[in-house]
Amino acid sequence: QPGGDPRATKILFGRYELGRLLGCGAFAKVYHARNLSTGQSVAIKVISKSRVLRSGLTPNLRREILALRRLRHPHVIRLHEVLASRSHIFFVMDLARGGELFTFIANSHRLSEPIARLLFHQLISALSFCHSRGVFHRDLKPENLLLAEDSTTNPFLKISDFGLSACLAPSTPNPLLSTVCGTPAYVAPEVLSRNPYSGAAVDLWSCGVILFVLIAGYLPFNDPNLMNLYRKIRRGEVRFPRWVSPDLRRLISRLLDINPQTRLTLDGVLTDPWFRKDLDEQKLIA
Ligand code: ADP
Ligand code: MG
Repeated sequence: QPGGDPRATKILFGRYELGRLLGCGAFAKVYHARNLSTGQSVAIKVISKSRVLRSGLTPNLRREILALRRLRHPHVIRLHEVLASRSHIFFVMDLARGGELFTFIANSHRLSEPIARLLFHQLISALSFCHSRGVFHRDLKPENLLLAEDSTTNPFLKISDFGLSACLAPSTPNPLLSTVCGTPAYVAPEVLSRNPYSGAAVDLWSCGVILFVLIAGYLPFNDPNLMNLYRKIRRGEVRFPRWVSPDLRRLISRLLDINPQTRLTLDGVLTDPWFRKDLDEQKLIA
């Protein structure tokens, strides 16, 4: 029975051999797999159709997925194909062997500014590429940033789930859903207030949170109580650890601007002094 319950069959559609579980998300399980005709290792994200339907599907799912399959960038996890059985959807994609950026940050305690800058350059180049093609991520966070290889000196970032959140989740956030999914610590204030918002500005806010996490090793907005967390995000006040340079503080503050109209844009990032500084010295430990 091709493409049935992924736990019951080891071979999917006669084409992929399923391997070990790589990770779990709110909606999906991701497995290591091997393409039987090419031998290539891939990652396969398995989503139960009923859960997707419950969270809300966009009407143009098919068209949006076609657009995602055309996105090819070295720092974006490529979507090879989408398969479906009666009960599940399977996203076949590039395998990221280095795991989550989160683990990398945790293992290095915190990153030096040159390494944070290198990763931020990679993130911004992927984001510029996708935004220029009208695709917004809307769910950027370290769990969705993976590393291509297991390397401590030359991290190569790959954004995962690009555009998928826009296809699979309702664009107005449901607070109940957010509670179930975990801490929405990366969400922009205008998303919380449920006003119509710009996908570009929301992604740049998340970039500000990510840049802060890269350099500090912890979240800029954090609270075990969801209402308190929302209040902190809406206020947008950030306290920097003492080791962060003035130039970097300025960049992060301009990204974490609670007003999406005055928030830094991608063009603004590209001309920012901290962003433009040389990438020569790539030391890992601050
Ligand atoms: P969800 O959308 O439900 O959060 P994700 O796509 O983020 O699911 O996948 C969950 C986890 O699986 C990720 O956090 C990561 O650890 C792992 N994972 C996802 N995609 C890949 C991939 N292409 N290569 C390696 N690991 C992956
Ligand atoms: Mg995820």
